[in-house]
Amino acid sequence: MKTGKEYKILVVDDAKDTQLLLEFDLTSAGYHVDCCDGGEQALLTLTEQKIDLVLLDMYMPGLSGLETLEKIKTGSDTTTTVPVIMLSASNEEDEIVTALELGAADYVVKPYNAKILLARIRTAIRLKEKTKQLEYLAKTDFLTKINNRGNFFELSRKVLSLANRAGYPLVVAMFDIDFFKQVNDDYGHDAGDKVLITFAQQLTEVFRDYDIIGRIGGEEFAVCLPNTCVDNAKIACERLRQQVEKTNFSLGKSIDYDNSLKITVSIGLSLAKRGVSSMDELLKQADLALYYAKEHGRNQVINVNDISDEIVTDLVSSTNEQEIEPMHEDQLNNTIYGIDFLVGVNNVLGDEALFKEILVMFYQDHHLDGDKLNAALQEHDIASAKHLAHTLKGVASSVGAMVLFEKTKAFDIAINENKVDDYDHLFASLFPELTKVMQSIEATLDVHGN
Ligand code: GH3
Ligand code: MG
Ligand code: MG
Repeated sequence: MKTGKEYKILVVDDAKDTQLLLEFDLTSAGYHVDCCDGGEQALLTLTEQKIDLVLLDMYMPGLSGLETLEKIKTGSDTTTTVPVIMLSASNEEDEIVTALELGAADYVVKPYNAKILLARIRTAIRLKEKTKQLEYLAKTDFLTKINNRGNFFELSRKVLSLANRAGYPLVVAMFDIDFFKQVNDDYGHDAGDKVLITFAQQLTEVFRDYDIIGRIGGEEFAVCLPNTCVDNAKIACERLRQQVEKTNFSLGKSIDYDNSLKITVSIGLSLAKRGVSSMDELLKQADLALYYAKEHGRNQVINVNDISDEIVTDLVSSTNEQEIEPMHEDQLNNTIYGIDFLVGVNNVLGDEALFKEILVMFYQDHHLDGDKLNAALQEHDIASAKHLAHTLKGVASSVGAMVLFEKTKAFDIAINENKVDDYDHLFASLFPELTKVMQSIEATLDVHGN
């Protein structure tokens, strides 16, 4: 994490005295501060400058705080990821829930306590950075640092749907290193890994910045080339094939004289047919061409359209067992008890892998909350019970645990309204739901980091 000095906070408040006060407290803590009087100006500033966090007043003339928040969270990528902490003199429950549901990172009631506000700012910024890091990890192949399979599919599907709508050509190419098993057998797995890393680098060098490159299996890679006709795609693939063929793949330090090796690659490609091709279908076709290339001597580029229909039919029957199975959203859908997968995934901008990481964090941070709440109630420690219920409610809604959210919300309201008689039966309803959700996450995901 950067030091406070490098972060810039945007203060949005119509009251000049609040602005001055915040500016003083924040600059004293080492933050850079920019102030604006209203929502419109804040939205403009967010597009013009790199802002790390927004402190947003609730009641302002013109755009209200909630309206501004909504615009920030539904705007472009640059604004939606900036954490926003709401500041308001009101402690109105519905308003707080609305702000959190709209995507506020936190909510602080005025007059604020500077120490607490600063702690919350640090937490919000840390969480944002952690999320960014997780997002990167979830999208990137750990070995080659290019897109992993999931991200390759996600990005490619987007450009394919654009291509279908706009009517421009798009080609998908699949690459499989020839006799790669032999590389591992002859030189060891580490040498194999080095080859994969160098091969991935060559892909990124040969193809254009806006081509989507991914590692989709062990020694299998794919490239999606938007706005490219099949002839040009073939030229690019051929260039890559030749470059690989003449490269001495370095195996790093070695006492041997010959510490490099040669490999070749087989490539299959297919052109999208306007409006009728899905990414799964395109990859299947490219894979058929690749299989044909393997069968006919390897180290060559084959376009599936150059293979006759009878051969394609034969290939389909002989390659059926190795069809590409991209991850589907519904693969995980409803498999975790009490989690509305779509709600949760939407909360992290549709990133399934990131959502799974977040569910693991949810488990790790909250699986003991039932016992903790119970203990707090037994000890009449209502402040702790209130804190636990309030936090759990917010997190449950973020991860799409909607029934759990309703139950913790009812409990939270009872505590806020001091309805002591309701505590026991509301807790009795909340506890089994929480237990079942946690058990199901534990059974489905690797929550112990093995
Ligand atoms: P072909 O020309 O028919 O493609 O032959 P091949 O040996 O490349 O094909 P096969 O699919 O039989 O073997 C692929 C090998 O790739 C087997 C596996 O051990 C290796 N492999 C998969 N992932 C990795 C990895 O991350 N690192 C290393 N070093 N090897 C890997
Ligand atoms: Mg291979
Ligand atoms: Mg293979």
